[in-house]
Amino acid sequence: MSVIVRFAPSPTGYLHIGGARTALFNWLFARSKGGKFLLRIEDTDRARSTEDAIQKIFQGLEWLGLDWDEEPVFQFARAARHAEVAHRLLAEGKAYRCWSTPEELEAMRAKARAEGRQPRYDGTWRDRDPSLAPAGVDPVIRLKMPQTGETTVQDMVQGEVTVANIQLDDMVLLRGDGTPTYMLSVVVDDADMGITHVIRGDDHLTNTFRQVQLYRAMGAEPPTFGHIPLIHGPDGAKLSKRHGALGIEAYRDMGMLPEAMRNYLMRLGWSHGDADVISTEDAIRWFDMAQVGRSPSRFDMQKLTSLNAHWLRARADEGLIGLIRPILEGAGFTLDEAGTARLQAGMGGLKARCRTLVELAEAAAFYVEPRPIRIASDAAKLLDPAARERLGAVAARLAAVEPFDEATLEAECRAYATEIGLGFGKLAQPLRVALTGSTVSPGLFEVMVVLGRDEVGARLEDAAAGRNPEKNSRR
Ligand code: GLU
Repeated sequence: MSVIVRFAPSPTGYLHIGGARTALFNWLFARSKGGKFLLRIEDTDRARSTEDAIQKIFQGLEWLGLDWDEEPVFQFARAARHAEVAHRLLAEGKAYRCWSTPEELEAMRAKARAEGRQPRYDGTWRDRDPSLAPAGVDPVIRLKMPQTGETTVQDMVQGEVTVANIQLDDMVLLRGDGTPTYMLSVVVDDADMGITHVIRGDDHLTNTFRQVQLYRAMGAEPPTFGHIPLIHGPDGAKLSKRHGALGIEAYRDMGMLPEAMRNYLMRLGWSHGDADVISTEDAIRWFDMAQVGRSPSRFDMQKLTSLNAHWLRARADEGLIGLIRPILEGAGFTLDEAGTARLQAGMGGLKARCRTLVELAEAAAFYVEPRPIRIASDAAKLLDPAARERLGAVAARLAAVEPFDEATLEAECRAYATEIGLGFGKLAQPLRVALTGSTVSPGLFEVMVVLGRDEVGARLEDAAAGRNPEKNSRR
């Protein structure tokens, strides 16, 4: 039997970290087994489902590189099919109509609570003659749950879990207005789509027992379930907006790479030995639900950022230029041919120092900034009159130095510092500030080579003449 799994988000909000991780586990499971990964949009909550949320789910999955097989299924469009199944179960005597009013249901719940029992439907209409139905009430259709025995689920993550059937009340399949409930829709869709494995958050575990009974009533084989523990915040509480739980696009905007996001999310609950840095190819090779732990994992921004730094370094320079281009352009820089060539030449030194694309774009900006470059205010202090005079002298010496390579440039600058009896550091920092606008940058002589003789000369002259505007924020 080949594997078919699905990701079934409700489009009532953004695609958050937990949903993205559920999608990733399903995708890895499918890809590791040569099976199919389907997408079903559970848009039955008409009041809360939005087109914008649907688009965000598609875009988020695309950005993460989680490609789905076949056309997405929209659950609301299948409502007639869900109702048909409820009516079939009714005709087969496996479900029944219930005319209990909201007031009666509330009274049942109150009584159960007073007697210290779980509030549940008491089965009033299970065997009652429908001819006793009151006028003016639209009946719901309920499933006849077994009242004896147990329901056991062999969960891929939670192991064997059992509940006494007496705990399962006769759940509503079809509401009085003819609309299907979530429990009915999800089971009918999973059965019709041929889903073999349901991998989802463990907040759905308690639904599973009743869903299993519904499969049996329908004469369908229940799929294998795997309920993955939820993601918690750093403080151990369930991840929420309070922890800055954001839509997946927020991480893209922070400058995370999809491969880093995949690496981070797969490690939230799944492990392979003590490997931390795991490529998607290896994950597909190694993924196994048996290695998914039962305890909740904690979201850790620092861990994500450090994995991102790793994957950033692993990217080809060319690709990184393409990724930071929109960020630089958004900040008002223009990438002409010369600027692009500098980025190409300087990328190795830049990416080694950055953890995100946003940091990379900020660090790279001085290579494409038109003269006179702006100087961060904390760095501008280093350009006092004495330093500016020395920068003018260095500009004159470097105008003729041959060859214009790192070793020769360094030798020339050191020779000058020695001649004037200045520690090399005292010369190097103002040089760095004049060339990059900041006290932090890739290696000074690497920067000089990337900028080239003319630009180095011009930037040093700018600083010597005090032409650079200040900018307030540190870059
Ligand atoms: N639509 C449900 C949710 O977003 C998931 C249902 C399921 O996976 O069975 O929580």
